Amino acid sequence: MNYDIAIKNLLCAVFYMCSIVSSDAQAQSSKFLYAGNSNSVSISNTSEWNANGFTDVIIQDVQIPKSYKHTSEYTHKFEYAAVVLRGSGWTYDEVVKRAVRAEEIYSQCNVWIEGIQIFLTDQSNESRAFSHKEKTDLIFTKNIPIKSRPMIIYFNDDKDRNIAYAVPRKNRKSQHPYINTIWMSIAIKTLAYQKLLPNTYSDEAHELGHLLLNTTKHVFSNEENFMHEIDNLATDRINTDQCEIIRNSPLVSLIKDTE
Ligand SMILES: [Zn+2]
Repeated sequence: MNYDIAIKNLLCAVFYMCSIVSSDAQAQSSKFLYAGNSNSVSISNTSEWNANGFTDVIIQDVQIPKSYKHTSEYTHKFEYAAVVLRGSGWTYDEVVKRAVRAEEIYSQCNVWIEGIQIFLTDQSNESRAFSHKEKTDLIFTKNIPIKSRPMIIYFNDDKDRNIAYAVPRKNRKSQHPYINTIWMSIAIKTLAYQKLLPNTYSDEAHELGHLLLNTTKHVFSNEENFMHEIDNLATDRINTDQCEIIRNSPLVSLIKDTE
């Protein structure tokens, strides 16, 4: 989180590239490739994945329970895709646990993280070469056959930098698949990084916040906040104005009465 300022500067350059390469980008509205409501599915057609260099793809559709801390009614919901690269150090269990934590935080806005779709896959040549250079990130997002967003990529930064960053749409009209992605390096689990932040802080909640609030900016105020710029004020608190924006995000949908 505190490292993402520098990264954001980099992203401006990256985004410039996005606008250049966006002409062949696909619409973001298509649904996942997995079928039905099965709890654990291997996709029947892996040819697109294989053609793009991914092997042994396993997809798990995980419903996230509504927070036990939540006392009022949920009105909105969203879900996200989580790509876990084998050999990155990230595990399936961790990714689920971290989603449950993020769900607790968004419950403050009556927003339910309904589920996550975990895509466990061997790494492609591009993802092995991740180094937060524009090209590898862009190629990866173009090649991975997941169209829905948000998408979080859990990876291993070969430079061991503590990096978590998000790519909000902002004012861009581009449909490039890089938009609305989040990047989580395994290095954010290091003690040195964890010690900088309060226990209540969630990387997932914060980075999703960048997408749902559609901004790369942080909060500067005397109050703690999940998007706060200052490490020791970066907690799990979302204020009412932020909740309003989040509920109106195009990435979030209204819960119908029947649900
Ligand atoms: Zn941030």
